[in-house]
Amino acid sequence: MRKNIVAANWKMYFSMGEAQSVAERIAEVVDNKTEVIVCPPFVFLDRLSEVFLDTPIKLGAQNMYFEEKGAFTGEISPVMLKSVGSEYVILGHSERRHIFGEDDIDIHKKVVSAIEHGLKPILCVGETLAQRKDDKAKDVVERQIITALDGVDLSGVVVAYEPVWAIGTGVPADLNTVSEMHTFIRGLVEDVPILYGGSVKDKNAYELAQINDVDGFLVGSASLDTDTFKKIIDEFERAKGVN
Ligand code: PEP
Repeated sequence: MRKNIVAANWKMYFSMGEAQSVAERIAEVVDNKTEVIVCPPFVFLDRLSEVFLDTPIKLGAQNMYFEEKGAFTGEISPVMLKSVGSEYVILGHSERRHIFGEDDIDIHKKVVSAIEHGLKPILCVGETLAQRKDDKAKDVVERQIITALDGVDLSGVVVAYEPVWAIGTGVPADLNTVSEMHTFIRGLVEDVPILYGGSVKDKNAYELAQINDVDGFLVGSASLDTDTFKKIIDEFERAKGVN
């Protein structure tokens, strides 16, 4: 089902104390007009599930392994994520694909396992600059989506279009590109929320959110500062006419 979502990807930032105080601030300022998801590092999930108890804020993890349990040193299972209050899990983030070598089949296994265990996957897709220059952006994104979501019940799935060349650069994709890619993705996954990610800031959130097929944002570095994150949510709601 299409709904408005703004999600924070904290990546590998903060200590426990910092994470707790940022989470407490977010809990003070966020209401329930837009679904707000905070995805901290694994080790903060349990504590943050207490902070977000009795608030509308949802908790998400940044990754998981597809197996339920076993001899997989260093990995985290979907059962563990559920047990510490996660409702969502980011899967296939470009940093997982490019730094840690995850491929479309790995990500498909994770998506299937997440859903089997009652977690909602936020599936990240997006082309590299070389692929875009090669005119392969749509082929890449289509392959990532079709493979990851093969045979999957889409009811809890969220897709995030995150062009790799716009992540962490301070410069988002231009509006035409975002519009074109979101419309293309909408043709593949009709009723699924499609988030845009890649250098979303308070200054550009309004114009990005005006694009019809942008149902929300996945925000990286700008989500680490609560005032900025809140402004992004406000700008998103202003553009969508949410009161
Ligand atoms: C991300 O890593 O998902 C992301 C969108 O990062 P940033 O907002 O920092 O570009």
